[in-house]
Amino acid sequence: MAVVVMKFGGTSVADVERIRNVARHVKREVDAGNKVAVVVSAMSGTTNQLVAWVRDANPLYDAREYDAVVASGEQITAGLLAIVLQKMGLKARSWQGWQIPIETSDAHGSARITKVDGEAIRRHLDAGEVAVITGFQGIEPKAQRLATLGRGGSDTSAVAVAVALRADVCDIYTDVDGVYTTDPRIVPKAQRLPKISYEEMLEMASLGSKVLQTRSVELAMLYRVRVRVLSSFVPPEKMSPVVVDRLENIGTIVTDEDEIVEQQVVSGIAYAKDEAKITILKVADKPGVAARIFGPLADANINVDMIVQNVAPDGKSTDMTFTVQATELPRALEVLKAAEKDIGLFDVQSSADVAKISVIGVGMRSHAGVAAQMFKALADKGINILAISTSEIKISVLIDAAYAELAVRTLHSIYGLDAA
Ligand code: ADP
Ligand code: ASP
Ligand code: MG
Repeated sequence: MAVVVMKFGGTSVADVERIRNVARHVKREVDAGNKVAVVVSAMSGTTNQLVAWVRDANPLYDAREYDAVVASGEQITAGLLAIVLQKMGLKARSWQGWQIPIETSDAHGSARITKVDGEAIRRHLDAGEVAVITGFQGIEPKAQRLATLGRGGSDTSAVAVAVALRADVCDIYTDVDGVYTTDPRIVPKAQRLPKISYEEMLEMASLGSKVLQTRSVELAMLYRVRVRVLSSFVPPEKMSPVVVDRLENIGTIVTDEDEIVEQQVVSGIAYAKDEAKITILKVADKPGVAARIFGPLADANINVDMIVQNVAPDGKSTDMTFTVQATELPRALEVLKAAEKDIGLFDVQSSADVAKISVIGVGMRSHAGVAAQMFKALADKGINILAISTSEIKISVLIDAAYAELAVRTLHSIYGLDAA
């Protein structure tokens, strides 16, 4: 008998008919004798609608009330799934974050899970009941306010629940049948990866592949949770129930590097269109200037990603380019303006029409030339590189957004990832 956490994303619970489909997946596991905790997202489109209403009500909203509104989407699906499961003759009940409780930090809108108490859920599972848990939300214990985990946060709820229940597997059901070498909606020749290492999945997620929320991968890696990514659209009867120690590999298993036998140099390509570029022109080329630019941004909690500083041809002034989240661009520009005196005279240019394209692979640790190959391929297509950043297992370039898809397809092909 296994303890299984099953998470279903927005498209998998988009209407009551799809919720019935989800219930059949759950029933398969229960019928096999497994103990099941289900984590659900809001119906697809719901969270966007809720966010839009909040912004309409007041663009400078109270973050605690934002959470009160947007957390409601998951409450609907959890209740509906419990009702459908009961109609199928299963014992089931819904659980909201505060009832478990799933405790979080007070960073409303992007709170971190700080603690999950598995006790109550465990007791109910032992009594043969399916626990249907709202993803994306928890409670901030000091002020006792609802808090949400940031977009895509139900993945993180699922992994955190799996940790608390010491589950044998955390199955993430979505609208694709696994993690692919790149977004299969952009590159039809993308291939499913039967396995991917935690490290690579972490890079893929943080560099824009939204199939798993970054924090869910961090948490899985920390606690060595076995995560599988599966499609909820495969008919429930066509999948076999979870058997501990004999996990069927029908989607993608996120696991330790040493379990992966055949390793490509590059395993995947990610892209992100949510960054914006800021260039500060003609700042003095002297010690302390970078600190005076990035200090105030850090104080304002604005994350800076890629940074390029040009050489100063005249030895006096230089240009500095860096990226921030596109949603933070107006705030970043304000912060820079306020720090203008400290930084010294400068002109600033900014653009959100940029995309970050990344190639990822643990094989890069032992292979030279991956970057050179990438730069040449982009040059051959006439794509200009605006900024570069690297780590041990990834190379990212910033380019004009108009070329994003061409770049992804080109790189996917030259690193040998295209399906035959
Ligand atoms: P859910 O609502 O189930 O959480 P998401 O929309 O958050 O689903 O994530 C699934 C989507 O992630 C897929 O539809 C796919 O377009 C996208 N995606 C991006 N990169 C990848 C990748 N490398 N492999 C698989 N899917 C990816
Ligand atoms: N419903 C939330 C969102 O759309 C959380 C999730 O689906 O994971 O971001
Ligand atoms: Mg998601």
